Amino acid sequence: MSVQAERLYYSDSYLKEFVSIVIDVKEDEGDTWVRLRESAFYPTSGGQPYDTGVLFIEGGSEAVRVTEVQVEEGQVWHRLAGSLSVGQAVTGRIDWSRRFDFMQQHCGQHILSACFEQALGAKTSSFHMGDTYSSIDLDKDLTDDAVLLVMRRANEWIWRDVPVRARFVTEDELSTMKLRKAPSVKEDIRIVTIEGLEDNACGGTHPASTGQVGQILITRTERMHGGTRVVFVCGGRALSTAKQAIDTLRGLANGLSVGPDDVPLAVTSLQEQFKESKRKYEALRGQYSGLLARDYVNTQLQTIDSTCVLVAEIPDLDEVHELKRLASSSVTWIADAHPNAPYIVVFVGGWMGRAHVVIQAAENAPVAANQLIQAALPPLNGKGGGTAVAAQGSAPVAVKEAADSLASCLRANLPSFSRELH
Ligand SMILES: [Zn+2]
Repeated sequence: MSVQAERLYYSDSYLKEFVSIVIDVKEDEGDTWVRLRESAFYPTSGGQPYDTGVLFIEGGSEAVRVTEVQVEEGQVWHRLAGSLSVGQAVTGRIDWSRRFDFMQQHCGQHILSACFEQALGAKTSSFHMGDTYSSIDLDKDLTDDAVLLVMRRANEWIWRDVPVRARFVTEDELSTMKLRKAPSVKEDIRIVTIEGLEDNACGGTHPASTGQVGQILITRTERMHGGTRVVFVCGGRALSTAKQAIDTLRGLANGLSVGPDDVPLAVTSLQEQFKESKRKYEALRGQYSGLLARDYVNTQLQTIDSTCVLVAEIPDLDEVHELKRLASSSVTWIADAHPNAPYIVVFVGGWMGRAHVVIQAAENAPVAANQLIQAALPPLNGKGGGTAVAAQGSAPVAVKEAADSLASCLRANLPSFSRELH
């Protein structure tokens, strides 16, 4: 049987039910696949995904689901959620809503590609049809205005409701045709014609007229190496996409207590308010850290051999950045109270399950900040670094454990440093 006779969708893309016979069965990695004498099931090809459906077994009420259809070496194979044997007569029924949805997307793609090429000279280099959206890649960088113009033109072809026809042609006939894209096969060349718009080589399923595509909605474009990717939805998908977008906008408008048209303005105003609040918060946070640091300096500062030493622990930090603010403010308070005295300031805080450490040291301190952190953290599987005057790091341990390690390293340089004084 010829390919054209075996694949029933070629001559009738509206055929939903057909009678056939199982002519081959194979097992592949636990799945059963069958070939049918003829079939209306569309196998994944030309960018269009496969059909699903059911095979009813003749003479009984039993049915087996078809979960995937693929072509292998020119033969159409149906994957089953069950089993059948050679010679069994079956009635096949394809899932029509899935198929018709793909017909709308596929024909919409032909219309869009033709309009992009005719209006802007932008050729389609590849086409993707997915379960939720489709896309074409064009070989030109396009402006949003140009894309909008083509979307309108493409929809005008739908409103005209012109016939869409598919037929097989001979090589002689082919040589007289002006195709958008050269056929990828040498024999069984099938041409899909959108009357007045284009002829194109295609093995896919299309509706009988452009009106059935319903609508073409471009949802976004992406610039990509000298070209443009155009993402779109057609027909039923365009309707549900538009409905979803309206629901989302309404939800946003209700949340902001404004009308849908005022959402962009309300969002801009919220962003400005947020920026201003954040600025005020940062200023207050800085003031608070200054007061907190003064408390630490007043209650926990030790003077050892004329060096001011502060080791402070904060079990739970609101933000890890707080440690730096506290250390800097403490240094300012120490400099006020003990001008020119060497100092070492260590803050250890808990954040996201780790002990974080910030150290600031005077240039004339008996131990450098980076030296101290590199001595204390590696034994705790932590790491850190910095300069002689400022260092930071972290370790996967409790705050107290990290503070104890830092204290004992400090004691190596300042033997009379004691944690008990805290
Ligand atoms: Zn096609």
